[in-house]
Amino acid sequence: MDGAEQPWTRSTCPYCGVGCGVLLRADGLGGLEVQGDAAHPANLGRLCSKGSALAETVGLDHRLLAPRVGGEDTSWDAALDLVAARYSDTIARHGPDSVAFYVSGQLLTEDYYVANKLMKGFIGSANIDTNSRLCMASSVAGHKRAFGTDTVPGTYEDIDEADLVVLVGSNLAWCHPVLYQRLLAARKKCGTRIIVIDPRRTASCDGADMHLALEPGSDVALFNRLLAEIGKGGAVDSAFLAHTKGFDAALEAAASDDASVTGLSEAQITAFCHLWMRTERVVTIYSQGVNQSITGSDKVNAILNCHLATGRIGKPGCGPLSVTGQPNAMGGREVGGLANMLACHLDLENPDHRGAVRSFWDAPHMPDAPGLKAVDMFRAVGDGRIKALWIIHTNPAVSMPEADAVRDAIAGCDFTVVSDITAETDTARLADVLLPACAWAEKEGTVTNSDRTISRQRSVLPAPGETRPDWDILAEVGQRMGFVRAFDYGSVSEIFREYATLSGIAGQFGRDFDISALSGIDDRAYDALEPQRWPITATRKGGRFFGDGRFFHGEGKARLLPVTWRPPAARTDPRFPFRLNTGRTRDQWHTMTRTALSPRLSAHLAEPFLEIHPADATRLEIDTADLVTVTSPTGRAILRARVTDAVTPGQVFAPMHWTGETAPSGRIDALVAAVTDPVSGQPESKAGVVAVARLDAAWYGFAVSAKPMALRADYWALARTQAGYRAELAGCAEVADWEVEARRLFAAPDAAAAMITDVHRGIARVVLHEKGVIAGVLFIAPGPVVVTRDYLATLPGTEGPDALTGRLPMDVPNPGPVLCSCFGIGVNTIVEAVETKGAVSVEAIGELLGAGTNCGSCRPEIAELLQGVTTRAAAE
Ligand code: SF4
Repeated sequence: MDGAEQPWTRSTCPYCGVGCGVLLRADGLGGLEVQGDAAHPANLGRLCSKGSALAETVGLDHRLLAPRVGGEDTSWDAALDLVAARYSDTIARHGPDSVAFYVSGQLLTEDYYVANKLMKGFIGSANIDTNSRLCMASSVAGHKRAFGTDTVPGTYEDIDEADLVVLVGSNLAWCHPVLYQRLLAARKKCGTRIIVIDPRRTASCDGADMHLALEPGSDVALFNRLLAEIGKGGAVDSAFLAHTKGFDAALEAAASDDASVTGLSEAQITAFCHLWMRTERVVTIYSQGVNQSITGSDKVNAILNCHLATGRIGKPGCGPLSVTGQPNAMGGREVGGLANMLACHLDLENPDHRGAVRSFWDAPHMPDAPGLKAVDMFRAVGDGRIKALWIIHTNPAVSMPEADAVRDAIAGCDFTVVSDITAETDTARLADVLLPACAWAEKEGTVTNSDRTISRQRSVLPAPGETRPDWDILAEVGQRMGFVRAFDYGSVSEIFREYATLSGIAGQFGRDFDISALSGIDDRAYDALEPQRWPITATRKGGRFFGDGRFFHGEGKARLLPVTWRPPAARTDPRFPFRLNTGRTRDQWHTMTRTALSPRLSAHLAEPFLEIHPADATRLEIDTADLVTVTSPTGRAILRARVTDAVTPGQVFAPMHWTGETAPSGRIDALVAAVTDPVSGQPESKAGVVAVARLDAAWYGFAVSAKPMALRADYWALARTQAGYRAELAGCAEVADWEVEARRLFAAPDAAAAMITDVHRGIARVVLHEKGVIAGVLFIAPGPVVVTRDYLATLPGTEGPDALTGRLPMDVPNPGPVLCSCFGIGVNTIVEAVETKGAVSVEAIGELLGAGTNCGSCRPEIAELLQGVTTRAAAE
């Protein structure tokens, strides 16, 4: 059957917490066709650049297809028996807290449920934590402190209905692009005002009414000023305040705070406060810039205080909306994936809740205290308290703060198991046992997105090799540890029904997470489950929380928290004079295990970089495209300089994505200190301190090849292209013979070589041909290589007669670096359309070229480019 005859299957995108619906269809060749699902309420058919490129990420060439023990393929029985035996033996000798699971927001809810049940119910420890700890644990803590439960009050529809949307620490345009497009659509229709609060000028600032570039970590002081103004200015909703406690103390704390620490002018602060107070329908969207801080929980509560004081919560167009980073971060929160929670929003430290879950599971052991949160868990791995560690679908050797120390801790652990779809990650390379898991398009289950919508993820591709679903692997280990009946699951739907039934017990305790109406659904109904927002009970389906004034603290009231500003943990000093901010880029996802497989996505930003202000760059004699060393008290990186006034003087920004597999010197989390919010345990990933200096490189290089390269240099960064691979390189030691080096790099000892060298100018160009076509091209220069990279990247596998010139043939237009990933449209093509074809708006460029008309993720960059061209033209 060919692809056209296959039915479309409704599923979900596996990247961010927007939770877009996708339509998938197998192409009959092992690949997929992907479209946005117009019937899914999260995206109404839209997809961003990452979702649109999903089909490029499902190949098998990088997959782990069989269990491995000690690097050798083995049988499932042997691997599972070993894992169960080592866990049982470690627990018997050292107690249940000597083992741990570190899991992921990539897990489906059913996978999470089984992992949590095994650890908390049957192993008898709470040492299970998730990488969501790095992402939104502060929102969880803030919600629980204010509402008595971890509940997102609002919905995505509130964005459509708001008159003002405030983005705090959120580059929504790049990190949750479909929500950003939804916001822009609302703005176009209703004139929604947009304020961006972020130390950095991001793509989300394009067209915003106000950008408040506050000092890193000063959000509490800004929102305290807002609360103080609300208190003074008559914006308090006294009727709603009757549903809360703590207003006076919160107001007193707010009034004592000093907004000048934000670095904003009085005029800016006043304008913000006035617009916020005078606009009834306000949605405050916040993300990692709020959460990833030692005061993350306080920042969340400072925001919630303002919404509670004004009653702007849980009503159409009103409320705080925390947006999650991962596809099932919310599902993990609901199912007890964090070390301090039980399933279904039940409380681990509440004896009644604990007893009910224990009884429901018929569990022998239940811990009565929280387990180790992520940072503490890896400290315990490092000092030997954790002796057996199972890491599932996450890459802590790259993504944890102080990543070098975490990598060393994992390497030194007595017994490490990694479940993943590939063996080619920094973490998987350290495992004693590797367990091959099904990938996204091969799995069945459910996920919850940022507005509480539960959606089905459905398989469309067969499980390749010996891969298995995660719930099945976990249940097998549970059974082999002796818990046969508790983990005797026959299907994923059976797990879901058990989970939904448990949520009914939570409902009886008055908890909000209750999906008990689904506890009796049969397999067909589970298969057909429509996206729907919880709660899902006999009497209630979906909707908003808290607009009715009912909260989940004992007395049914919300709490306003007295919070005051505290500075980031690290202070800049003469040794480390720059404040380091880290974050995401538009077209990569987390540690790139999937997105780096896509040539389209890799074309946007092909290497790790450091944004630095022009004044700082000039002082340090750094030019754009130079390589720079970035040093913190915990690590060192080498990154490409991007000189830009998007960051303010004294601040630098670097992306979080690059790994030992893609750019070993670009692992930025090695530089982030493992200091955490005392309430949430979330690390402070956006306010480190670093020194920056120009790298004293002897040579810079650029290489393209048809096959993977044997990269070995002080700096290298590898990216996929349509024709194979491209790499940036640099070294601090001279290389004697570039032809020899090229043959080694391209593993082509017998290739025919064409070469130009100029020893005095430090220039070399080597082109290697095998069987008449180009196997590799290497350009070397004493500074950043100036060459038409996108053209060279097309040459592997072709005859490429002009490869040594590095220039396109005269009759071939040069589109420039790709800006619109969906249609592969380059910067030069867009500039030409502006300069010669009169396309003077983003819409006109879209009509002429198509750029920005699919996912829309590149529209802010098109707008910035357009502004640059028109400003330049006006100056001339
Ligand atoms: Fe996927 Fe993009 Fe939607 Fe996020 S916004 S779920 S990455 S398509």
